[in-house]
Amino acid sequence: MKITAVETIYPGARSAMPALVFVRIHTDEGIQGIGDTFYLPQTCISLIHEHIAPVLLGQDALAIERHWRDLYRAYARFGGRGAEIRALSAVDVALWDILGKASGQPVHRLLGTAQESIPTYNTCGGPLYASVDGGSQAGYGSSRVAGMWDDFDAFLNRPGELAQDLVSEGAKGMKIWPFDRFAQAKGSRAIEGGDLAAGLSTVAAIRDAVGDAIEIMVDGHGLWDLTPAMRIAKGLEQYDLAWAEDLTLADNPRTLARLRASSTTPISVSEYLVTRQEYMPILEQDAADLIMIDPTWAGGITESRKIAVLADTFGLPVTYHDCTGPLTLLAGIHLSAATPNLRYQESVRAYLRSVYPTMVTYVPEVIDGTFALPTAPGLGTELSPEFLAGEDVVVRTTRLES
Ligand SMILES: [Mg+2]
Repeated sequence: MKITAVETIYPGARSAMPALVFVRIHTDEGIQGIGDTFYLPQTCISLIHEHIAPVLLGQDALAIERHWRDLYRAYARFGGRGAEIRALSAVDVALWDILGKASGQPVHRLLGTAQESIPTYNTCGGPLYASVDGGSQAGYGSSRVAGMWDDFDAFLNRPGELAQDLVSEGAKGMKIWPFDRFAQAKGSRAIEGGDLAAGLSTVAAIRDAVGDAIEIMVDGHGLWDLTPAMRIAKGLEQYDLAWAEDLTLADNPRTLARLRASSTTPISVSEYLVTRQEYMPILEQDAADLIMIDPTWAGGITESRKIAVLADTFGLPVTYHDCTGPLTLLAGIHLSAATPNLRYQESVRAYLRSVYPTMVTYVPEVIDGTFALPTAPGLGTELSPEFLAGEDVVVRTTRLES
C-alpha cells in the first residue's frame, strides 16, 4: 500500500483551537488515515509539505517504524525536537490509523490490549481555553467566558460547586491550575504568601465540598522557578493530591529531583518532553513519580509507547495528555488501552461536548469516569464533512506525481 498524498487541514485562526492542525494521509488502496498536533500550526504545515511529504510519497504506508526512524534521524541532526517532532507525531498517528483500517482492527488491538476500560479525569478548561493568542499561550488560558461547560471560570470562582458537579457525573479526578495567574501577573521568581494562600484555598474548597470523593491534580504549566515551585508543592501536601504537574519546566532533571525531594506531593513529568531521549534522564535521576506523555508532541504512537515502556521499567505509571485535539485524545485512548502501567487518560469535558464534535464524526464518551475500549478499526473517527466545508478551513495537499 503506497502513500499517494499528504494533506494538512487547518481549522482557521478564528476557530476554538487556532493552534491545532490535522494531517490526512491517502494511499493507493483508498484507505486514509488522520492525525493532529498542536502549537505553531503554520510551522508544522510547512514542515509536512516541505520535508515529510517528499520523504513519504510513494513509500509503503505500513512501514511505520522505518518512517519514524528516517524522519527522526533527519531532525536529530540539527537539534530538531520541537515542530519537527510534532509534525512527525501527527503523521505517525495517521499511519497507525491506516494500519488499523487495513487490518480491520482498532489500534489498541495491534499494540496489544492491556486494559478493560480507561480511567479519565477532567481537566477544568472551558471550550475557549485554547482560543487566545493563536492558541500558543501556555498556562493560564483564555479569560473569555464560554458559558456552558466553562470549567475554567468555575474552578477559579466556584471550585466547590464544580467539584460537586463532577462527582455527580462520576468523575474520578479534576485538574486545576490555581497558581498560574500569579506567575503570569508577577513573574516566576517568587510567590507571595497571600497568593500561595489564595491558590491553596481553591484546593481546600474542593476538599471541603466533596472530601476525598475526587482526586485532585494541580498544573503549573512550567511557569515557576524552583523555590516558588517547592513552596507550592509543600503547601499542597495537606490536600493529598494525585499529583502536581509542571510546577517548574521539565528541562532539568536535577531541578525536578530537588522539587520532588522537597515534599510528599507526587510530581508528574511532563507533557513538555519529547522522545525517549528527554524522558530517560528524568527516570535515571529519580525526578518523577508519574510520567505524562502527549502523543502528538512526544513522537506519535510509535514513540509514546516506547516512553511508556521505559516508565514501566522504572516502576512508574503513565498518564496521556489531552487538551490539544481529537486525534491526540484518540491516540492516547488507544495507547492507554495498551499500557499496562496506565494511571489515567486526560480529557476535557468542555472539548468532548462542545469543541471536538464540531470537527470529527466520533468523539468518545466518558461514562462513570472511564472511556470504553474503542471497537472501530483504526483510531475510530474521521474529519466531519461539515468541518471540512467550513469557510475558514485551509486544506493544502502534496500529491505523488504520476
Ligand atoms: Mg499539563
